[in-house]
Amino acid sequence: MSDALTIALVAHDQKKDDMVAFARRHTELLSRCRLVATGTTGGRIAEALPTLDLTRLRSGPLGGDQQIGAMIAEGGIDALVFFVDPLTPMPHDVDVKALMRLAIVYDIPMALNGATAEILLNALLAQHTEKAHA
Ligand code: PGA
Repeated sequence: MSDALTIALVAHDQKKDDMVAFARRHTELLSRCRLVATGTTGGRIAEALPTLDLTRLRSGPLGGDQQIGAMIAEGGIDALVFFVDPLTPMPHDVDVKALMRLAIVYDIPMALNGATAEILLNALLAQHTEKAHA
C-alpha cells in the first residue's frame, strides 16, 4: 500500500449525501487508496463504508480545510474531491478558497462537483490499471 494514492475528500453539508453516494460507487478504487477527509465528511463516509482506510481531520470550519491545504503543500495529496455548495454562505469561506488555491498552486487534480469527480476517479482508475499491467 506504500505507493497507494492519497485522495482528499471534502463535502459541504448540502453535498454530504452526494459524497457518500460517490464513495459507495467508487468503493473498489477507494479501497486501494489512502483517504483523508474533513471531520464530518469523513465521519459520514466511515459510517457508510467502514472498511476504507480513512483519516479524519478537523471539521472544515475548525481547520480541516487548512490541514488538507498543508498536506498538499507538503506533497502528501494526489487528488482532491471537494463537493462545494455554491448556494450557502460559509463562515470558513476563506479556508475554502485557500484550499482551492493551494490545489491550483501545486497542480493537484481537483474536482469541485460530481460530474468532474466521476471523470477524475475514472482517470485515476485507468492510470492505476495501466500501472498494474506495465
Ligand atoms: P466537514 O467540513 O466535513 O467537517 O463538514 C467540510 C467543510 O465545510 O469544509
